[in-house]
Order: sequence, then structure tokens, then C-alpha cells
Amino acid sequence: MPKRHEITELLGDGIAEELCHSVRAVAAALPVEVAFDTVNLEHSNRRTHGRQLYDQAVASMRRTGAGLKYPTATVEESPNAILRKLLKFAVIHRPVTSIPGLKTHFTGKIDLDIVRVATGGTYDDPGQMVGDYAAVSLRVVDRKTCEQAARYAFAIAARDRKTLTSSSKYTIQRVTDGLFEDIVDEVAKDIAFAGQVKHSRELFDALLAKLVMQPEHFQVILVLNEYGDFLSDLASGLIGSLGLGASVSLSFDERGRVSAAMFDAIHGTAPDIAGQDKANPTAILLAFSLLLAHVGEARAAGALRRGLFDCLDAKEATPDLGGALGTQAFTEAVIRRALERLKG
Ligand code: NAD
Repeated sequence: MPKRHEITELLGDGIAEELCHSVRAVAAALPVEVAFDTVNLEHSNRRTHGRQLYDQAVASMRRTGAGLKYPTATVEESPNAILRKLLKFAVIHRPVTSIPGLKTHFTGKIDLDIVRVATGGTYDDPGQMVGDYAAVSLRVVDRKTCEQAARYAFAIAARDRKTLTSSSKYTIQRVTDGLFEDIVDEVAKDIAFAGQVKHSRELFDALLAKLVMQPEHFQVILVLNEYGDFLSDLASGLIGSLGLGASVSLSFDERGRVSAAMFDAIHGTAPDIAGQDKANPTAILLAFSLLLAHVGEARAAGALRRGLFDCLDAKEATPDLGGALGTQAFTEAVIRRALERLKG
């Protein structure tokens, strides 16, 4: 009897509905039992129900511990920013892997786990004018969040037998980035399994150059908020598309265990192609695969991921990648190939 997993499903705008059909079809075809607790974060619903809807989303996420979020339009407010605050996300983890068959300008093989401190840095303060000729902003490096991010990064590096690189500008931003690197070192000393992980530091500018020249030298990379933002997009560009990325936002309890994990695609609502069967569901299906792995369904998660890559390698793709398949036909092809992987 497969274990039943209850998952929060946060609906959105634009292509969200088509992506949701794709995920539902895949979930029904795989040997997993998933029950979705749905909260509709579509813009019209948010406008009508406001804060009450976010409270419902948060209550569901707290109960299930895991959710899949579809893209939402930022109109009056940013649902992502509100959820990040309400659910106290401390870490954004974005795996970035070269995709077989996808044409790119870059020939190196990328296989990275970017672990980004989810808050702070320069992003919490838009800045303010000082007189007419200058502006300043506050840069925040918070001990607790950095510690949570470092513990998580060491844990996934130990689990997957990967190296860990922490990166910042600690020689220039000596107090702020220095504190971040000190915390990483403290965590390395504090956790028993950290000794299994080879940890090194890189200056962030040097890291970018090395990543382009020798991507195979990097595996798990731990960075502060803004560096993680830049790095994730650079890495996504290297694998050929910003549109194929999935990520998970994580919050932790007092004992450092993951208390909520929200999985999503990096792209937006693509209003220009909504309702036309043109949306590429790869990113949301990769997010769903990460979610399945998170709830302990590693076999189904792996089959889905490999099924997606098999399709793209065989040029079975949606129009944005030069393919001829619509969202539904592509989803059927992924299901076929994922089930083949499960048999093989
Ligand atoms: P976008 O990612 O929605 O679209 C940019 C371009 O990429 C468009 O041409 C679109 O057609 C294409 N595209 C995006 N996803 C695609 C997919 N799955 N398949 C095929 N093509 C795809 O970015 P945008 O146009 O800047 O933003 C549109 C809306 O999405 C805005 O309201 C923005 O706030 C919102 N947004 C939401 C999220 C989120 O909820 N996570 C993220 C980014 C943007």
C-alpha cells in the first residue's frame, strides 16, 4: 500500500491552470498517492479575500509541511514576498543541472546545488536618499538565518557526498560577509557529520570566473541572499534557459528540522501564452519531482526527472524549446517515458 502524502497546492495566474493539469496528470500516473489541499491564489481571489487567503495557505502549509506553488501575477502585492515572510523561509535551494539535448552556448557540464540565504543582504532595505546627491541602504546579515542555511547546506552535501563551497566578499565586506563565513566555520565545527564534507571558501567574483571555466569543481554552493540571486540566474543561463529552473523555499523549527518546504518553478505566469496549450511544464514538473523526493518518494521522483530529460533529449518538447508538442502532448510523453524508467 503506497503511503498517502497530503500536499498543499497554491494555484496561480496565467499558465498556472495548464501547469496544474500537467502536474495532476503526472501525479495520477506515477505509483504515488498524493492528495492535494488546494488554496486558490489567483489574482481575482486574492483581491476578494485578501489576507484571509494567505492565512489559509499558511495554515495548510504548516499542516502538510510541503507545498507546490504555481506562478502568481504581482499586481497589488507579491504573493511570493508575503508567503516568504509569513512562512519565515530561511533558505532557497535551487538545483541546476545541465539538460541533455538542450542547445546552449556553454559546453561545460553544470551540476550544482545553490543554497541561498532567503532573506537579508541588501534586499530588505530599498535605501534612502541622503540629501540630494547620495543614497544609502542597509545590508543585513542575520546570524540565525545564516546558521540555518549553513546547517542545511552541510546536510545535503553530506547526504549526497558532495563538496561545499561558501562564497562571499569577506575581504571587502569584512564585518557582514565575515560574519557569514565565521558562522559557516562554526557550523562546520559544531555538527558531527560536517567532517565528512570538504568545505572551502571562495571570493564571489573569483567563484563566477571559476564556475564558467571549471564548473565540475563545484557542487553545493552556499551564499548570502543577493549573491544567490545572481548566481542562480547565471547558472540557469549556462544550462540554456532561465525557464527550466525549479526551487524550494524552506523554513526550520527550533531543532533545525525542515518545518515547511514550498516548491515552485522560477518562471512567471507567461500571460502572453496562457490558455493556448503552449506552456512548458518542465520547471513545475521538476519542482514536483523535488517535492516527491522531499516526501520520501525517491524512486518516483527520479523516474519523473529522467522521463523529462529523456523527452528533451529526444526533442520531444514544447514550442519555447523549438519543439512541436503542446502542454498536454508533452505531459503525455513525459508520463510515458517516466513509466518506462520505472520499468527499466
Ligand atoms: P514570465 O516568466 O511570466 O514570462 C517571460 C517570457 O517567458 C514570456 O515570453 C513567457 O511566455 C515565457 N515563459 C515563461 N514561462 C514559460 C513556460 N513555462 N513555458 C513557455 N514559455 C514561458 O515573466 P514576466 O512576463 O516578466 O512576468 C509575468 C508575470 O509573472 C508578472 O506578473 C510577474 O510578477 C509574475 N512572476 C511570478 C513569479 C512567481 O510566481 N514565481 C515569478 C516571476 C514572475
